[in-house]
Amino acid sequence: MSFEELKARDHEYVMQSYGRFDVAIDHGKNATLWDVEGKEYIDFTSGIGVCCLGYGNEDWSKAIYDQALKLGHISNLFYSEPYVNVAETLCKRTGMSNVFFANSGAESNEGMIKLARKYSFDKYGKGRGTVITLNKSFHGRTITTLAATGQDVFHNYFFPFTEGFRHADANSMDSLESVAGHDVCAVMMELVQGEGGVLPLDVEFVHSVAKLCAERDWLLLIDEVQTGVGRTGSLFAFQQYGIVPDVVSFAKGIAGGLPFGGIMANAKCAGVFTPATHATTFGGNPIAAAAAGVVLEKLDEDLLAQVKEKGEYLRGQIEALDLPCLGKTRGMGLMIGIEVKGDKTNKELAAKLIANGLLCLTAGPGLRLLPPLTITKEEMDKGVAIMKATLS
Ligand SMILES: *Cc1c(COP(=O)(O)O)cnc(C)c1O
Repeated sequence: MSFEELKARDHEYVMQSYGRFDVAIDHGKNATLWDVEGKEYIDFTSGIGVCCLGYGNEDWSKAIYDQALKLGHISNLFYSEPYVNVAETLCKRTGMSNVFFANSGAESNEGMIKLARKYSFDKYGKGRGTVITLNKSFHGRTITTLAATGQDVFHNYFFPFTEGFRHADANSMDSLESVAGHDVCAVMMELVQGEGGVLPLDVEFVHSVAKLCAERDWLLLIDEVQTGVGRTGSLFAFQQYGIVPDVVSFAKGIAGGLPFGGIMANAKCAGVFTPATHATTFGGNPIAAAAAGVVLEKLDEDLLAQVKEKGEYLRGQIEALDLPCLGKTRGMGLMIGIEVKGDKTNKELAAKLIANGLLCLTAGPGLRLLPPLTITKEEMDKGVAIMKATLS
């Protein structure tokens, strides 16, 4: 089927809630993709930070196939081995105590907010349900996670939003203290704000927030939906910030391309969810869990070290181009933001790059790169060459 035919059918039968680029992807190998008409692309997006092992990984595909033949779904009324394996690996590699599995980032964050409110309710009773989040944050698209998101553009149309969120400026303890109060139960934040523009939080700020949370018995909730699963060069970004969160959410990359996510709690919060207080039909699905098992196995110390090296290499190559429309790069590991300068917007630049064979993302006013963690030097060099040819 030609691209134009496919697009016409999408517009006829699918709700037009996405502003898609004019490309229909057909298949891929590692960080290289081909569209329905056979044109090649270098992928600096990994499906928005999801396909961390790239496309067409054989071990990942085989684990999914084998598990599908054995047991595709069973629900949380019964035990099954794949999700237990993933939970054990996550706890052993992070020092967290236990895991609840969900299916997406927003849903994982909902669970994290529910856990924080229940922790506080169990200990202090009603009236202490407010969660402080940061301006420029992004926590999801459900009514509650939109309310948590600290960007006014998201607070539209869908009134009434969930109560109980206040927003403070990142890297400012004064701002955070100014929205504090007796009704607060938690602070929730991304360590590198993703959708907001790839904005890493200052280490001192993060440590000060952790200290304040400990003093006031607020839970420290870290949204690692984008930063987690190796993206920043450690299994989770909090491990590089040197903090111990109370709860951490994850999703995007965890199963390398299948819908999966969840939250991990530390010892203090491990017993908050008791039977029937939180649940989901698909959570811990055996196929998604089998895929996650492969992702976690591949993300060993060697690959994590490579993520840091590749991130530095790619940023260095891009800055060396010294393009008039691009400024400084920032980020951690293979989560990279690029400042956009001049009269073209980030969306216009992304559209040009995509048309010329390089898939990339925008975030805030800049460009954002989230390549597969397995991207090769050759693929990075091809991508940078397309940037040079397109944006010079
Ligand atoms: C993508 C993202 C979410 C939402 O995840 P979905 O799977 O789209 O619901 C939440 N938080 C952060 C930090 C994200 O990057």
